[in-house]
Amino acid sequence: MGPSGRAPWPVSHGILLTEKSLARMGLAEMTMNITAKDRFQEICRKVEARQRLSFDDGIALYDPAIPLQVVAELANSVRERMHGNVAYYNINTHLNPTNVCIYRCRFCAFRSDLRDPKGYVMDERAVRVRGQEAFENGCTEMHIVGGLHHKMGYDWYRGIISQLHAEFPSIHLKAWTPVEVGWFEHLTKKSVRDILIDLREAGLGSLPGGGAEIFHSEVRDQLCEHKANAHKWFEVHRTAHQLGIRSNCTMLYGHIEEAHHRIDHMLRLRSLQDETGGFQTFIPLAFHPDNTELSDLKKPSALVDLRNIAVARLMLDNIPHIKAYWIMLGIETAQVALHYGADDIDGTVRHELIYHDAGATTPEILSVERIRELISETGREPIERDTLYHQIHRDPEDFRKWTTGKALELVGN
Ligand code: SF4
Repeated sequence: MGPSGRAPWPVSHGILLTEKSLARMGLAEMTMNITAKDRFQEICRKVEARQRLSFDDGIALYDPAIPLQVVAELANSVRERMHGNVAYYNINTHLNPTNVCIYRCRFCAFRSDLRDPKGYVMDERAVRVRGQEAFENGCTEMHIVGGLHHKMGYDWYRGIISQLHAEFPSIHLKAWTPVEVGWFEHLTKKSVRDILIDLREAGLGSLPGGGAEIFHSEVRDQLCEHKANAHKWFEVHRTAHQLGIRSNCTMLYGHIEEAHHRIDHMLRLRSLQDETGGFQTFIPLAFHPDNTELSDLKKPSALVDLRNIAVARLMLDNIPHIKAYWIMLGIETAQVALHYGADDIDGTVRHELIYHDAGATTPEILSVERIRELISETGREPIERDTLYHQIHRDPEDFRKWTTGKALELVGN
């Protein structure tokens, strides 16, 4: 049964590679070469037996000789095995307290120099206005990330968390990536552990997944050589998990990376998850080139987006959720992704700047009715969740009031 108590539909129930399911996938008729077909059949057998896929399996799943639709069918059956027919969303808002940043990541259209007219820093009042707006719109979560402002001290960053937590305690604060935590380390000379403990005392609820980009140094050194490296990124998430702080993880794809960099990236995440179990959701992020130093590159196609979702679901066997982030994918692709391995579509979102500065053409907000409708149109059952994946029950008389229900457990794995 699904978390809603209703029987999930349509669930493959582990029949991933019977002759029947292969026939249903049209594998026999696919114009795959023999090597690709054999390779894919071996991968199907492993998935059916709940065996872990290897680095080489991951590379094969990106091989264009294996059609996207069969990879998707396999990923979807795993997705349904884990989550039944439900798809999750939340009611959330974004807060980017400053865009002034000491770094110059080549893929970033959001950052600003200190004296650039585009640069801004939010004061206490502006933060309060955003908190109030979030509260009045029934948000359960604020996603807080921004630039590394060299004139603002650690207390300013911490103060945003403590202010919001004190004034709007019902809103979960998912804040600061390892890039920021690494910067706080530099500012305070304290350890990552002490900083996270201090931020938690201030009101931090969990960590977002950003700053991961691509871990492999062949790519990372070309994109963002100065900011937190892979080692720092994992140190921060490992420490957070050890402290009981949950987090998400991401991968920025569709720029200069190749398939082996993506698989390497996923396997590093899978390995930390084996150690700590602290990741909730993996979010593949499609690169948007407008207004970046890489504006000569093309935005990845929907087919690339969907294959990444599907491959992620198959490779990340220990991370419960795969998110189709509609802001980056576009609404239509995000909908399709709910049948390609994704089980979460992110939230209503409000005040998204980072990807809109880079040319995202999606709306900056969706109404609750619209996001539920988008999920229902795909045949999935929409479930509102909080940041830590508990079901949310809204008061029908007053939308701003909610109660937190049970933890949304996996149907199977
Ligand atoms: S991605 Fe983050 S760290 Fe890099 S330039 Fe943009 S705001 Fe700064």
